[in-house]
Amino acid sequence: MLGPVLLAASRSDGIRRIVSAAPVTRPVVDRFVAGERLGECLTAVRALAGRGIDVTIDFLGEDITDASEALRTRDAYLALAEALAGEGLGERAEMSVKLSAFGQALPDGHDLAYRNVLPVVEAAAEAGTTVTLDMEDHTTVDSTLAILGELRARFPQTGAVLQSYLFRTEEDCRALAGEGSRVRLVKGAYKEPATVAYQDKHEVDRAYVRCLKILMAGKGYPMIGSHDPRMVAITQELAHRCGRKPDEYEFQMLYGIREAEQERLVAEGHRMRAYVPYGTDWYGYFMRRLAERPANLAFFLRSLLTR
Ligand code: FAD
Repeated sequence: MLGPVLLAASRSDGIRRIVSAAPVTRPVVDRFVAGERLGECLTAVRALAGRGIDVTIDFLGEDITDASEALRTRDAYLALAEALAGEGLGERAEMSVKLSAFGQALPDGHDLAYRNVLPVVEAAAEAGTTVTLDMEDHTTVDSTLAILGELRARFPQTGAVLQSYLFRTEEDCRALAGEGSRVRLVKGAYKEPATVAYQDKHEVDRAYVRCLKILMAGKGYPMIGSHDPRMVAITQELAHRCGRKPDEYEFQMLYGIREAEQERLVAEGHRMRAYVPYGTDWYGYFMRRLAERPANLAFFLRSLLTR
């Protein structure tokens, strides 16, 4: 019941100000966010690499209001690509971007986002790594997939994210299950209307399995973005059935979530990638994590009471 309230709050400026200013918020945020600066993020990335865990790094920023903020996002990712190259981390670390932070929701946003993200994708290729386009609310899917298509024409390794809660996603999986395609499959983290998305959790789970079957049977590289033990087990079963070797798909989980399970999968010989967010604009990301899981919210509330 609280999930939709928290998702609505994730887009409220008033609540953003209150939550961001509360001194108790910081330690809880630190559990999900790898610091505010690039240096802190790289420290976390090195620690994960030491445990055999690859990463995809997200510079936090979304819902921007003018084009100069989009340039700030672009520049932060260019600095990140340079740092990854300098540290020789290109093979272990890729980058995740939200096109809204590149200007997608501004006037002429589709072209603006493409123009701003293109140099980042070029810099990633030079650094020996790649970029995955996160998926945001359903109104952005067509634009994001069109930008993906344009980027993949020159950088075929550019990754996509598909959300199983959307009715359209099985079809999108079929379209993106071809050779060289990299697709992260997630359940979906935004509040979506019943006209476009399943509302019932079991329906979302069933759709996830249908999408997983399409991607695992295809010729692309599926990235299983879920903490759900059932989805992990079904992936392993499908990999066996489809004759996929452990380097022909990967598991992805969020930084700070189910860390023991991340290590267990690595120890079993699986490729595991943690999604590592950093930056000062953590509010929207943090609120979506609280909305996803009552236990995350309980952790936050407990820390309010115990201080
Ligand atoms: P849920 O359906 O939330 O939970 C199922 C089960 O998983 C639970 O019963 C529990 O057993 C286990 N579980 C889940 N969370 C936890 C936890 N915190 N601790 C312990 N056990 C847990 N969404 C988007 O809309 N766009 C994106 O681009 C996007 N990128 C993502 C990238 C990655 C790498 C990941 C992992 C998620 C991403 N998401 C994205 C979020 C995603 O859509 C879901 O909201 C989120 O992953 C929760 O769904 P779930 O499949 O993990 O498990």
